[in-house]
Amino acid sequence: MSEKENFSPDQIAKAVEEVRKLKPNYGRMLDLYEKIFTAQEDSRNETHVEPVEIPPDILAVKTKEEFPLIDISQFAIDEKTAAALFRNLCDILQNAAGEMPESARAIAEALNEKKLDLHTLFQAFLKADEDFFQKIADELKIDKKTLGFIAYNSVKPSLARCAEQLSTLLDKNLPWKKGYCPICGSPPILSMFGSNGQRFFFCGFCWHKWATQRIYCPFCENTDHNDLHYFDIENEEEHRVDVCDNCGKYIKTVDTRKTNRVIYPPLEHLSTAHLDIKAKEMKLTSEIAVGF
Ligand SMILES: [Zn+2]
Ligand SMILES: [Zn+2]
Repeated sequence: MSEKENFSPDQIAKAVEEVRKLKPNYGRMLDLYEKIFTAQEDSRNETHVEPVEIPPDILAVKTKEEFPLIDISQFAIDEKTAAALFRNLCDILQNAAGEMPESARAIAEALNEKKLDLHTLFQAFLKADEDFFQKIADELKIDKKTLGFIAYNSVKPSLARCAEQLSTLLDKNLPWKKGYCPICGSPPILSMFGSNGQRFFFCGFCWHKWATQRIYCPFCENTDHNDLHYFDIENEEEHRVDVCDNCGKYIKTVDTRKTNRVIYPPLEHLSTAHLDIKAKEMKLTSEIAVGF
């Protein structure tokens, strides 16, 4: 299996194809996301962000106090590549199912007519300014969630680049013992066992990957093995759901030692949506970094 961080369109196509064989029910969703993931990885290759400067005295305090390096509003965006990706995603979504095509068409039109300013939109997104998104959604008579979805997915390559750059400031010899992302402070969306059994979390916002303890709940910092367990999934040996009895939260886990598939983490999250449904039926909750 592959644990590399950058993926070519061919690798994404292969990863999607392997999942498609295992989960034919996800076919339509996979068709859509293969296009989105490919567009994002292509965009990432072109994306350059200005380094986020953190003064040494502030960095020292953050390291000592185990604070994340930045607040989400501090992420740097490559507005040129993000805007190109935004337009590309509007095109891709115009062929999707549900409410998305209509909203994507209206958003693309508003862009062409210069009724939508992407600089303002991206900044509002980083500030989680839901009122701004609601205002635009009302003006354009579109679905606010679709606008948020396109905005987030357009800035994702910039977030990844920024996280890459910031991760060089993290002390490699100091294990990160917190349940939130060391870069941006968001909760993890996915957990993974690497080839040597090391456990990792992926940030639900910037997708930074960090090493963590094996027996640990990221949401309440519980390390008591009596309260931490997991349930296996029938016919999906490589997936499991880790549950904490202390806080009632769960996180999905991919065990890369149990599969030879190409593992593209965002695809693993997406193609295990049935596990989220199952967990919710069991009255378990998770934490979502991107609220809209
Ligand atoms: Zn993060
Ligand atoms: Zn917990």
